[in-house]
Amino acid sequence: QSKSDHQLILMHEFAADMYHHILLNTEEGQVALDYLENRGFTREMIEKNKIGWSLPEWNYMASALKRKGFSEEELESSGLAIPREQSSGYFDRFRGRIMFPIMNENGKVIAFSGRVLEHTKQEAKYMNSPESPIFQKSQVLYNVHHARSAIRKNRKIILFEGFMDVIAAGKAGVDNALATMGTSLTSQHIRQMKRFAQEVVICFDGDDAGWEAAKRAAISLNEDNFKVEVAVLPGKMDPDDYVRENGAAAFKEQIIGKPHAFIAFAMMHARRHKNFQYENDLLQYIQEVLQLLAGRSSPLERDLYIKQLSEETGLSQEAILQHYRKLENKTIERNRPEAPAVKAIKKEPKRI
Ligand code: ATP
Ligand code: MN
Ligand code: MN
Ligand code: MN
Repeated sequence: QSKSDHQLILMHEFAADMYHHILLNTEEGQVALDYLENRGFTREMIEKNKIGWSLPEWNYMASALKRKGFSEEELESSGLAIPREQSSGYFDRFRGRIMFPIMNENGKVIAFSGRVLEHTKQEAKYMNSPESPIFQKSQVLYNVHHARSAIRKNRKIILFEGFMDVIAAGKAGVDNALATMGTSLTSQHIRQMKRFAQEVVICFDGDDAGWEAAKRAAISLNEDNFKVEVAVLPGKMDPDDYVRENGAAAFKEQIIGKPHAFIAFAMMHARRHKNFQYENDLLQYIQEVLQLLAGRSSPLERDLYIKQLSEETGLSQEAILQHYRKLENKTIERNRPEAPAVKAIKKEPKRI
């Protein structure tokens, strides 16, 4: 870690302490504290995640950091302050937002996400720190620092869409929880997850965006040889909504405790918005599911899901199996390795 990275971390640590202090101990912070209490945040959750409040002022954090001895260059590179366009000086990036520190694996603050109290169309609900030498969104997972030991113990990661969901899950004792910082799951995220566990339960929002993102994440993780399961929420709820509506215990038992196998989830996904009265929908459904099976399944899985397909669609298992074999042959054809390079051919043939 370079000296300038170290400085950037010091700035973020300082800012996190300050935001946290303002939330908990000042009159100005009361409005944010009320908001969090309304959303079911306990004092313990606020402290564990070092949640804070940025004052709705133009120049509070920037001048505090300057007084602390940080240079303007450092101010700008941290992303905590933005240079003014018309005049000299800087203004605060985060103003009047609930501040969620994002920590690295060692628990050091490297960025923030700030939420507005009232979400209107004019303003983004969340504002994140920009990329910086210490913060790359495509690499950072929220809560690694807290979750690592629980992940190792459970041999399993529970992956959420938002850090609010991670925090809500904590209420239910689901501590092996991670989330991306609003990006889709990247190969760097997956590589990092691989260091901790081989199993993932994806638990994304119940809206259409959540279903699509869950499908993409499930496919990527499956390709990287994770055992993938998907916990599905009723309606358009997200995990945090569910915990608030039905309680933490129900969330743990009914949602996290009853995940669907990867293919079962993919079938649910493929059935969404389809009407089997329409033969096109029906045929497309079968095609989608069989394609998935042809890519990976064991004979047992194949049998199980072909039987299920037949029950769902009223078509015979034999017909479905025939179609499956066709797809499977195509898959094998596609995956056949290229002809070996000339060099390899010249090698001595192995004696048998
Ligand atoms: P809340 O319950 O406070 O509305 P949420 O976690 O349900 O929050 P979602 O809208 O479901 O929020 O978004 C999930 C994640 O996507 C967030 O945690 C955040 O990281 C990211 N995100 C959402 N909106 C924005 C935005 N406007 N800018 C940047 N990131 C965003
Ligand atoms: Mn969402
Ligand atoms: Mn959500
Ligand atoms: Mn939410």
